[in-house]
Amino acid sequence: MPVVRAQEESPIDLVGLLPADLVVLTTSLDAEPFRANQLWHWIYHRGVTDFSTMTNLPETFRKKLSERCVVGRPQISQTITAASDFTHKWLMRFPDGKEVETVYIPKDNRGTLCLSSQIGCTLACRFCYTGTQKLTRNLSAAEIVGQVLKVNDVYNCWKHSCCKKILSNVVMMGMGEPLLNYNNVITALKILTNIKGLAVSQRRVTVSTAGVVPMIQLLGKEISCNLSISLHAATDAVRDVLMPINKRYPLAALMAACRGYQAVRNAHRITFEYIMLRGINDSEADARAIVRLVNGLHCKFNLIPFNQWPGAPYACSTADATYRFATILRDSGYAAPIRAARGRDIHAACGQLCSAFFSGSGGSESEREWTVPNVPVSTGLYIQ
Ligand code: SAH
Repeated sequence: MPVVRAQEESPIDLVGLLPADLVVLTTSLDAEPFRANQLWHWIYHRGVTDFSTMTNLPETFRKKLSERCVVGRPQISQTITAASDFTHKWLMRFPDGKEVETVYIPKDNRGTLCLSSQIGCTLACRFCYTGTQKLTRNLSAAEIVGQVLKVNDVYNCWKHSCCKKILSNVVMMGMGEPLLNYNNVITALKILTNIKGLAVSQRRVTVSTAGVVPMIQLLGKEISCNLSISLHAATDAVRDVLMPINKRYPLAALMAACRGYQAVRNAHRITFEYIMLRGINDSEADARAIVRLVNGLHCKFNLIPFNQWPGAPYACSTADATYRFATILRDSGYAAPIRAARGRDIHAACGQLCSAFFSGSGGSESEREWTVPNVPVSTGLYIQ
């Protein structure tokens, strides 16, 4: 519940407050509860950040709001667009100077927005560039929702019916582990999917996890979104190396959590993401082990060619190995598309925009375009 703080304290960001909290705040500023609905409309329908233009609110209320609150937005410190497929990637900066990546992948007349949930990551997955960056902090719900609001600003899709087309899907597949920032992610998703606001369908929201077992079932009870598991290995021996979280929550526990999740969310097919790493996890024996592992689960696979980054300890599987792997999964009755690369020329994989080799971020709001250095990049970001 928000408490209206004294003026000299930092202002309250109204973005990130659930409707009930916005009512509490509104009444604590001596306005009638229904004013919270109007505020919500200005924030999430109209994209307005300046209280003075919220013309249907009483002047006294507007004055109090502008003294004590803000409608927050991250700044964009860098923008990059893939010439090949118009995938956009932004480096978003928050007031404390910390930055995350947000990626937009257009497809036909819709688009998927890939949001970050943390600055850096604690999981240290060996194939992941974000894993090389230390966790700085969790994003607040306001900062997660703010990424979406900022993208709507960029495309100027407020007040137009085109808004839905621009943003149809949201995936929590940017930087960080969403289930290690559980409360803020859930709050943000409740706001994004609120029917009176941005109204993203829950069925078009995907939370991806490296396997934070205790939170998987909770997630199923809380929100009806899609679950994606970053699997990436068929055995504990290999997964322990690729994803240290596996030592804490090994495959048997992960699969049990998936079964528990499916018991709650019966209709939901779980997606297993599987990065194809040459000579590491891509043998036919691995594929058969995967089939045994997921026995009884309603699931599909996304086979992802490894997106190589400078200094990465792995290489992408050959097309032949990937095809043979996919065939075993398909012959066992599972959908196993090999994902097409998106944003291959802009390093659209996890954590790469924030990296040191993209140095010199000026941090101006002017959305400085910049050049991709000549590093070996095989593939990009993958979407459904
Ligand atoms: N921590 C969560 C959310 C991050 S999602 C999770 O692990 O699911 C980011 C996705 O991109 C994950 O599936 C991750 O395994 C994958 N990924 C990370 N680095 C990659 C790379 N270099 N090439 C291809 N996929 C990568």
